[in-house]
Amino acid sequence: MGKVTGFMEYERLEEGYKPVPERLKHYKEFVVALDDQQSKVQAARCMDCGTPFCNSGCPVNNIIPDFNDLVYQGDWKNAITVLHSTNNFPEFTGRICPAPCEAACTLNVNDDPVGIKSIEHAIIDRAWAEGWVQPQPPRHKTGKKVAVVGSGPAGMAAAQQLARAGHDVTLFEKNDRVGGLLRYGIPDFKMEKTHIDRRVAQMEAEGVVFRTGVMVGSLPKDSKVTNWAKETITPEQLKKDFDAVLLTGGSEQSRDLPVPGRDLDGIHFAMEFLPQQNKVNAGDKVKSQLRAEGKHVIVIGGGDTGSDCVGTSNRHGAVSVTQFEVMPQPPEEENKPLVWPYWPLKLRTSSSHEEGCTREFAISTKEFKGDKGKVTGLTTVQVDMKDGKLVEIPGTEKEYKADLVLLAMGFVNPVASILDGFGVDKDGRGNAKASTEFTGGYATNVPKVFAAGDMRRGQSLVVWAIREGRQAARSVDEFLMGFSDLPR
Ligand SMILES: Cc1cc2nc3c(=O)[nH]c(=O)nc-3n(C[C@H](O)[C@H](O)[C@H](O)COP(=O)(O)OP(=O)(O)OC[C@H]3O[C@@H](n4cnc5c(N)ncnc54)[C@H](O)[C@@H]3O)c2cc1C
Ligand code: SF4
Repeated sequence: MGKVTGFMEYERLEEGYKPVPERLKHYKEFVVALDDQQSKVQAARCMDCGTPFCNSGCPVNNIIPDFNDLVYQGDWKNAITVLHSTNNFPEFTGRICPAPCEAACTLNVNDDPVGIKSIEHAIIDRAWAEGWVQPQPPRHKTGKKVAVVGSGPAGMAAAQQLARAGHDVTLFEKNDRVGGLLRYGIPDFKMEKTHIDRRVAQMEAEGVVFRTGVMVGSLPKDSKVTNWAKETITPEQLKKDFDAVLLTGGSEQSRDLPVPGRDLDGIHFAMEFLPQQNKVNAGDKVKSQLRAEGKHVIVIGGGDTGSDCVGTSNRHGAVSVTQFEVMPQPPEEENKPLVWPYWPLKLRTSSSHEEGCTREFAISTKEFKGDKGKVTGLTTVQVDMKDGKLVEIPGTEKEYKADLVLLAMGFVNPVASILDGFGVDKDGRGNAKASTEFTGGYATNVPKVFAAGDMRRGQSLVVWAIREGRQAARSVDEFLMGFSDLPR
């Protein structure tokens, strides 16, 4: 424990943001990270309590009290060693993790939690700046070949772990760049893509072979899922060529809103809109990019993806941005004695909301209206929760003007044809069926085929994907070698 009285002496200090008018002009990150001295003071707030709930609140089980202590002592080099022992990519989570660890922090019971995420952010950024993040190629090669399908955080974490265990790893990605939703989905202003590129270079030096633009299996003809593949490999071929296959293809099937007028022009999935802007930011030419400038934009869906549509629409120069959430507005503050140390339901206002957005809650869209085939508005109704079901409140219908509607209501499951191509059984929600328990975890019903990340657990978080990638890597290693030294 850094400073015994730190939690009584120091207040929580949040990372800052650059001013709204300035940040709306670009797509770069705008978080003002804590400096070394501020991080040290924040780390001193950690009480190193006997049972560190933060450690189990964090899906990768980061050893938070230890790195807090090391930061307080100014031992940043050992702090990154501790952080990397549980998390392959702290620069991703230090930027975009919602930080369930902080909800679980003991200080959060009657005070503000330790700023764990900002300390994580400071440690990894310092480590990169100091040149402490270096490739760790294996000392011995096993001669075993592993294919990882899908290069999101789950696939990247698994590939890095398996390469470090000495296997020949090939990571297949249908899109033209590595990163999954970190690359195409999450806006650059939340996480710049150079962070992924640096890790790709590190992993290449560790022996991972990246094959982008390669589709494993096939998508349905009318699929709206991002796909810039130039080549296809069949599941059969992959199983023949490799000793094990790990499927980390994410949960890409967007939830649709099949109400009258859905086929009008100007109604798109968020995942048609957001990746295009990522591409433009990367310097690519996008034919007929979906743009929001001069438009009244309605975003349907109140989560992270919706918030990212809000931020992107405002950067395009939308006339107005309105976001709908079908659930009632949650309370501003959680009832801590009731929910601690779990993730609380409370009103969350993102940096994108702060940039300009009208938020409507308990609202459902009944119909899209149009003129000459183009969307011009929509009809809504207020809803109420009765006996666990949302019911319409009569007489609350309302019309909204809309030139662009973005559907951001989450993802139902992975694309079925990909799992079917491998013959992988699905669970009740359409995800790849595989348990995470004990030896044989992450194994599917198909011999030598494993599944992890959103493809197995359904839509989730980057930190959960990293956890599943790491754990699945251990399972694959055990399957190939009969034992594994990789962390469980
Ligand atoms: C817009 C948006 C914003 C988000 N914001 C956050 C956030 O702020 N914080 C957070 O923690 N989480 C966020 N999430 C969730 C998070 O991004 C996901 O939970 C996480 O990326 C899942 O990782 P994954 O590796 O399982 O899959 P993905 O990241 O989805 O990667 C899967 C990859 O597999 C590829 N693939 C699929 N099938 C094939 C195939 N057959 N052949 C070849 N390649 C294939 C896909 O092209 C994709 O690149 C967000 C999600 C979205 C959509
Ligand atoms: S990865 Fe997320 S949950 Fe874990 S310590 Fe970092 S911010 Fe907290």
